Amino acid sequence: MEQFQFPFQQSLKNQLTAQMQQVVTAAEAATEQAYAPYSRFKVGAAVLLEDGKILTGANHENASFPAGICAERAALATVNMHEEHPKVKAIAVTYKGEEANETPLSPCGICRQTILEVQQWQGSPIAVYMCSPNGNIIYVEDASSLLPFYFGSKALAEATPPVNSPF
Ligand SMILES: [Zn+2]
Repeated sequence: MEQFQFPFQQSLKNQLTAQMQQVVTAAEAATEQAYAPYSRFKVGAAVLLEDGKILTGANHENASFPAGICAERAALATVNMHEEHPKVKAIAVTYKGEEANETPLSPCGICRQTILEVQQWQGSPIAVYMCSPNGNIIYVEDASSLLPFYFGSKALAEATPPVNSPF
């Protein structure tokens, strides 16, 4: 049987590069902007662009629960607002709960799918930094490590509409 393996790193925040520490700090600050009245689980994300800019997002919940959006997707959605369309080098995600926690936070499945679509679109890997409030971090250099056998645009390109389809 084939086995899927992928490289990952464990680190402390203060062992990262100065630039990545800045990105994680921006994600931590973004948790303060979360709208999370239902879960009280405040998540912040920060995206590092190739030009050094850092964009942030926070989770935004809704009484109609599926209408809520995660911090990672909130941050990534703002990348398109930059006309030069800079590439995304990394994304960091962290959280703030009721008390300090050591467990790094992983992006949910939908966010992994979204990060991968950006990675595919730009043609270069996005590093994903999964952070905890106390500074424990796990990171991967390529977002595809987090979603093997993912669904992508290639599958849609191969779909052929029925001959008499009006679409
Ligand atoms: Zn998510």
